Amino acid sequence: MDNLSVIIRTAPASCWSCGADTRIVSSLLLTCAHENTECSVADFTDYPALVGELDEAIAEVQHLGKIKARFSKTLARAYMSNGCAHCDALFGQHFEIQTRYAEQDSAQLIVPVSGDWAALFRSLLAAEDGHLFHF
Ligand SMILES: [Zn+2]
Repeated sequence: MDNLSVIIRTAPASCWSCGADTRIVSSLLLTCAHENTECSVADFTDYPALVGELDEAIAEVQHLGKIKARFSKTLARAYMSNGCAHCDALFGQHFEIQTRYAEQDSAQLIVPVSGDWAALFRSLLAAEDGHLFHF
């Protein structure tokens, strides 16, 4: 079975709510064989079990807010999101996009392409149309 490489990129951000310096997961790069796709933490909304694996991979990254489902008043639903490491305020996807100019590769996961990882990867490839910048 092929393996899937997941590069987790993080970027510095100033919290819009409390002003603290924090870090967020700005994007992820998934690569398997010759195919690759980028996504954001919101793409993990339907795959909460995978967030635990991301958490382990990024445990050493300092000042990183928790990735978890937060309720968005704008979208009127909960989705997997970045938050402030200090006050837990939700960072929306437009905010994530703005931080990407300063993002760095921060961690890598190598996982078998099976189960939820395979489902996520397939759905991202099927939606490959500038996916990262759409809601
Ligand atoms: Zn904050």
